[in-house]
Amino acid sequence: MSNASFVHLHVHTEYSMLDGAARLKDLFSEAKRLEMPALAMTDHGNLFGAYDFYKQATGAGVKPIIGCEMYLTPNSDRRDRTRVRWADGGENDVSGGGAYTHMTMLAADADGLKNLFRLGSYASLEGYFYKPRADRELLHRYAKGLIATTGCPSGEIQTWLRIGDFEKACASAAEFRDIFGPDNFYLELMDHGLDIETRIRQDLIRLGKRLNLKPVATNDLHYTFDRDADAHEVLLCVQSGSTMADPKRFKFDARDFYLKSPAEMRKLWDAEVPGACDNTLEIEEKIGDYSALFGSRNLMPQFPVPAGRPRSRSCARRSCAGWSGASPAACPTTGAPRRSTSWTSSSRWASRATSW
Ligand SMILES: [Zn+2]
Ligand SMILES: [Zn+2]
Repeated sequence: MSNASFVHLHVHTEYSMLDGAARLKDLFSEAKRLEMPALAMTDHGNLFGAYDFYKQATGAGVKPIIGCEMYLTPNSDRRDRTRVRWADGGENDVSGGGAYTHMTMLAADADGLKNLFRLGSYASLEGYFYKPRADRELLHRYAKGLIATTGCPSGEIQTWLRIGDFEKACASAAEFRDIFGPDNFYLELMDHGLDIETRIRQDLIRLGKRLNLKPVATNDLHYTFDRDADAHEVLLCVQSGSTMADPKRFKFDARDFYLKSPAEMRKLWDAEVPGACDNTLEIEEKIGDYSALFGSRNLMPQFPVPAGRPRSRSCARRSCAGWSGASPAACPTTGAPRRSTSWTSSSRWASRATSW
């Protein structure tokens, strides 16, 4: 692997519903063409695409890194469905109108992936308020095996920096660092040429130095190719119920949300923050494999069968017994047993089961 390479760790695939336009097939062929050793998926608040991503990545010879851009409560209980303001409620305040912040999380191994599934499930079942939200208590419970970052401009730390409260930002970052562990919590840096990124960048870097957080460069990837920016804009119209003719429609203020090459990413960061691109490779090396979860296994029930009798026939006979309430011995080796009920489908089922 070239030390001039780069791994994208913030990727919204087509499974970021109506927000990500990057098809998996395109992502992997482009990652291969650019000689990237691995690729992450970090869809918004869900892991619906995890298995598809794993399967296609391994098929394409690209190492899969499965993660999620998780929604967190603004330091409130996940069951508390009230908006939270840390400032005046303007555009610098908590995102989603005070409902949630963002955080990037990656599963370091199969156990971490199970924890990520648990976080996502509880966030949906118990923390849903505009988006599925996890809270501090869930993070404490399920942080094992996860690598996390300070996230995008909608993250808690960047929100405090925009509000102008550096100490609150440091306190938040220190709390997350202690939850995930000092080696598993990184300072995420993005540059899409947006004012919301540049105006707090120096504070963000200063915070990272104070807390000894390693920097990591990402691109908030929402489509694979730069030429997809227009199609993605139309997708956002579908999401928000607006049209391209509406000047006030929800849209991204840049056209940089594609799979940039290692050279493009290093041009952005190598001089300004040395190590920010190298650390994407460090994280990639920390990621184990998920085969304990996704590798092929025989999940059929195992039970002893009489010598010489096919397992499938014994399985059918036992199923018949369970269904009819009879003992397996009472089930014929051909045909289903007669039931004393008037449920007529039993005879239909029996006629289908004559090949035992
Ligand atoms: Zn975000
Ligand atoms: Zn994102």
